Amino acid sequence: MNHPGKLFIISAPSGAGKSTLIRQVLKRFDTLSYSISHTTRSPRKNEVNGQDYFFITAQEFEEKIDQGDWLEWAKVHDHYYGTSKAFVNESLEKGQNLILDIDVQGAKQILDAGIKAVTIFIMAPSFDILAQRLKDRGTDTRAVIEKRLENARREIEQKELYQYCVVNDDLDEAIASMCRIFENEILNKESQ
Ligand code: 5GP
Repeated sequence: MNHPGKLFIISAPSGAGKSTLIRQVLKRFDTLSYSISHTTRSPRKNEVNGQDYFFITAQEFEEKIDQGDWLEWAKVHDHYYGTSKAFVNESLEKGQNLILDIDVQGAKQILDAGIKAVTIFIMAPSFDILAQRLKDRGTDTRAVIEKRLENARREIEQKELYQYCVVNDDLDEAIASMCRIFENEILNKESQ
């Protein structure tokens, strides 16, 4: 029997190691796929259009707001980010489980709309470690890092919205915690 898929929302402040954890989880669960978001920010070095994000212009993004094409969207660090409603609906109908890597504003929109989702918040062990990781990453200017840290503070304050919180201190342990969540939630769905 083909069960409808389950939606997993994963949020984390920049630098918490979310992308690494998501990659590891995707490798381990073949019924799980990733919703590629659209954004108006410029691609970073090594980012590929259609793989990391769909990079579009602000005008294209705003047209899609008007057309009601977004399941959720938000302005994060001065750029638009959004999730395609059509893609999510089609995937879930096919029975595909889907990860949405979105910020707290987007997560709230989905929950407020009454859409069922498993919610996971990923944290760094401390704010200082988060700040250091962002600096070490070397992909952003100082001003951008400050903005991301300010945003991180606001997001961490709202982590109670999420069902699960994973602290990414030891990477292997964090991967194991994530896998336990996915295993339980996917199995749980199949027994329903
Ligand atoms: P980055 O620019 O570092 O790739 O992402 C910045 C933030 O935007 C992250 O917190 C990420 O989760 C969030 N984000 C990425 N895609 C989406 C989306 O489609 N919707 C929302 N609301 N946030 C997103």
